[in-house]
Amino acid sequence: MSTKDFLEKDYYKTLGVAKTAKPAEIKASYRKLARKYHPDANKGDASAEERFKEISEAYSVLSDEKRRKEYDEARSMFGGGFRTPTGTRPGQGGFGFDLGDIFSGAGDAGGRLGDLFGGVFGGGSGRTTAQNRPRRGADVETETTLNFGDAIDGTTVALRLTGEGPCPTCHGTGAKAGTVPRMCPSCGGTGQESRNQGSFGISEPCHECHGRGLVVDDPCPDCSGTGRAMSSRTIQTRIPAGVADGQRIKIAGKGLSGERGGPSGDLYVRVHVKPHPVFGRSGANLTVTVPVTFAELALGAEVKVPSHRGAPVTVRIPAGTPTGRTFRVAGKGVRRKDGTNGGLLVTVEVMVPKDLNGKARHAIEDLREATAGQDPREELLDRAKEA
Ligand SMILES: [Zn+2]
Ligand SMILES: [Zn+2]
Repeated sequence: MSTKDFLEKDYYKTLGVAKTAKPAEIKASYRKLARKYHPDANKGDASAEERFKEISEAYSVLSDEKRRKEYDEARSMFGGGFRTPTGTRPGQGGFGFDLGDIFSGAGDAGGRLGDLFGGVFGGGSGRTTAQNRPRRGADVETETTLNFGDAIDGTTVALRLTGEGPCPTCHGTGAKAGTVPRMCPSCGGTGQESRNQGSFGISEPCHECHGRGLVVDDPCPDCSGTGRAMSSRTIQTRIPAGVADGQRIKIAGKGLSGERGGPSGDLYVRVHVKPHPVFGRSGANLTVTVPVTFAELALGAEVKVPSHRGAPVTVRIPAGTPTGRTFRVAGKGVRRKDGTNGGLLVTVEVMVPKDLNGKARHAIEDLREATAGQDPREELLDRAKEA
């Protein structure tokens, strides 16, 4: 498996699961497909065998939490159709992102991701091969963390994007002021060299110019001849109201710059939402669990429950309500795009006191006596005997 595989193969599609699939779904789908295409069940069927291999490969990545994350990151970074380098060319005014930054923290996966990084940027500048057409910039993903309330109301966040651009001293040429780079004599400026290995011809970045196609005799002191320099920019981004934890927001045109006049890629912002100590979210509904007494459920009661950023609301509990029942308070949830509001889902939960004072203890003992004839498990025990 290579970086190229990561970019070109859609493992989710291979396993027939959504990108958001839970590990259990992935496992179930893998098992089903593996049974269907297993070589033992398809003797002599080469296409089934091929399919079985693909399924196994996809599962080996998606079943491993860490590798799945790497795979997702690689794909979200470069999109499905990303195939060729998009390094900053000398003199190009574009602003690239520092993928190394995004990849840092990949731990021992650094080898594979470093490979990817090198493949993408190493051959960036001097390539004069096939694609001289305008090329759309790659998509980029970043993350932001919001407070619970900001995610509900919408907010503006500052996203700091670290990027690699042309060195301001040498304007990206990599050559010291007053000198110019010359074409690499080894590869003739293509940045590529070919070598034969067995029956394959392999094309790889030129060892002389490291894929740039240019060599610098007198390097620029500020960028050591690379022609690139790190800088960062901050963009203000509006996060719409009602985003959920884990959601990805697309910001068109804020990804990597295009090449040769191609449009910029898009920026995707993965939103994390900090949990609230009291409220939860379920789509446009807010959720809250409210402790109640046995007496309140048995006899009925009106209880005050908190609402998010509002006055407490009163929920009427009818007599004989079981614990765990959920009541919906309309309009106290998250505002939807169409202007309507979700509800507040109030789940009641019996609170059993740890210490009972004498009077309460007597009352409960009396209750036990008064209900001694009722076994709440009688029906359960009967039904358990059914075949
Ligand atoms: Zn420079
Ligand atoms: Zn060269």
